[in-house]
Amino acid sequence: MKEFNERAGEPASVRIPAKIPVMCAAHDRIQVNREEHIMIYDVIIIGGGVVGCAIARQLSAYRLHIALLEKNPDVGYETSCRNTGVCHGGFAYDPGSLKAKLCVQGNRMMDRLSRELDFDFRRCGKVLVGFAPEERKRLLEVQRQGELNGTQPLRFVEKQELQELVPSVQGEFALYSPGSGILDPFMMTIALAENACHNGVEFFTDNEVTDIRRIRQNEEQLWEIRTVHAKQPAAAPEMPADTAGSDLSRRKISGSSDKYQTRWVINAAGLGCGRISELLGLTGYHLIYSKDDYIILDQRLGSLVPMPIYTVPSNTYMGIHVTITTDGNVLLGPTAEDIAQPAGYGVEQKNLDYLYEEAVKIWPHVRKGDYIRTYCGILPKWVDENGKIQDFKIEIRDDIAPRAVNLVGIESPGLTASVAIADYVIEKMKKREKLEPDPSFDPVRKGIRRFASMTEEEQAQAISDDPDYGELICRCQKVTKAEILQAIHNPLGAHTMTAVKYRTRAMMGRCQGGYCQMRIAQMLEEECGLKETELQYNRIGSPLFYGKLREEQQ
Ligand SMILES: Cc1cc2nc3c(=O)[nH]c(=O)nc-3n(C[C@H](O)[C@H](O)[C@H](O)COP(=O)(O)OP(=O)(O)OC[C@H]3O[C@@H](n4cnc5c(N)ncnc54)[C@H](O)[C@@H]3O)c2cc1C
Repeated sequence: MKEFNERAGEPASVRIPAKIPVMCAAHDRIQVNREEHIMIYDVIIIGGGVVGCAIARQLSAYRLHIALLEKNPDVGYETSCRNTGVCHGGFAYDPGSLKAKLCVQGNRMMDRLSRELDFDFRRCGKVLVGFAPEERKRLLEVQRQGELNGTQPLRFVEKQELQELVPSVQGEFALYSPGSGILDPFMMTIALAENACHNGVEFFTDNEVTDIRRIRQNEEQLWEIRTVHAKQPAAAPEMPADTAGSDLSRRKISGSSDKYQTRWVINAAGLGCGRISELLGLTGYHLIYSKDDYIILDQRLGSLVPMPIYTVPSNTYMGIHVTITTDGNVLLGPTAEDIAQPAGYGVEQKNLDYLYEEAVKIWPHVRKGDYIRTYCGILPKWVDENGKIQDFKIEIRDDIAPRAVNLVGIESPGLTASVAIADYVIEKMKKREKLEPDPSFDPVRKGIRRFASMTEEEQAQAISDDPDYGELICRCQKVTKAEILQAIHNPLGAHTMTAVKYRTRAMMGRCQGGYCQMRIAQMLEEECGLKETELQYNRIGSPLFYGKLREEQQ
């Protein structure tokens, strides 16, 4: 239970946001349930993916007391950091749909957002390549659809111009979208969360929502939310060590619980949206899931992919693509396999073989020796009774669940559209309640200064200012001790290996942590005062160490 410390005027177990004045600005609004000694929030957001973090950040511009509940130890552990990182143009979605409208809006915002929040974004363009006459016809349809959706203008290019744009590609012609781009999905999610935190949003990680009910408190209707904390298993489960953290069901072991009360609740639970909808009393959503596998190739190939290369899309599938990341890795994928329930993030060999066969048709430079890792992401798709995939659902049902914003089926392009989705949510809330802007809202967040991106002069200056910039921890990605320390002491307080990896790129290079992982584990133990058995790879239940094999003889 979040106990209210009346003397200090703040919840006892809450992390203190960096920007205290904002809390003071909202202080006149802070309500407390004095019988139960708990805080009453104005808004609680369920889910710390890119959408939940975008809503938190955009709402933090108003005088509201906001919390975000996330079941994992950090933000962005599910779909938001398991995607392709493409900033879509918005031409692949049905005209008039929310997917089209919010993708186009999100795409337009991306230059400003990346500057304000200090994450990588490049408007490098994208090509959709074709070979056969029916593919030409389909691409021309997509071009017309783009015009209807108001995307930045698309251009049809023939083979010669395609070769000039992307010399390494195979294809007879292409639809070229200069307005598409690539972004860093890890840093976009983290940056939105950190900026929200800076503006006073309280983040409660390791809080899985298990129950929501409507209660009456001093003549006011509130939502009461119960959460559980995951508990570390006492002994090693019987599974190979290299699958640590890949099993979604491993989290089911529950420990203690917490209770929250709020006037508004927002369901941004991604793969968990169906369960939260039901808890809100909004039943009847049928969800299916698409499991998408990818291969990550070495950065040495990055220069051969100046922009994402897609095949011709159908109405429901974008097709196999060869994509460049903002860090210069090349991605091959996805497989798109329909599954009944999300069960795990493992990747099967047969899918890797399939990806290879399909990718070489449009980009003949794939060599198995360049594979450095595989991964998979899972999309929640809301379907009707005939299995037809539906639009994003963003609703407030005043009759069934007043002051609850319910987001269902936020599949692709949810990353591109995330901040536009947040603004759409806020517009819906404003139709029911006046939201007062907070004049002290600060939209700017500065990220960790990366040694690898500095000039030689800047590197020398950084080392002279802070000698920790002179100690390389991750050799492949040139990440220094200073950066690892800044990541460990991040504003959200996440203390896992993945929290460091996503914030710095350490362990993401060719050797995948073979050189630096143990050093980073040791730094986390020392800086956070963790015992080695308490250190988690990502989720709770993914320990790096289960104990000692033998003690050193003195
Ligand atoms: C393979 C793949 C490729 C993609 N490529 C692109 C792309 O290139 N461009 C693009 O625009 N979009 C892309 N997308 C779509 C995009 O990634 C998603 O739409 C977006 O990340 C959804 O974000 P979210 O916050 O809704 O969901 P999530 O990231 O899943 O976040 C939901 C959060 O809620 C938490 N949660 C769930 N249940 C509970 C609970 N009971 N209590 C507390 N917390 C809970 C989860 O732990 C999670 O952190 C892709 C998706 C996939 C799978």
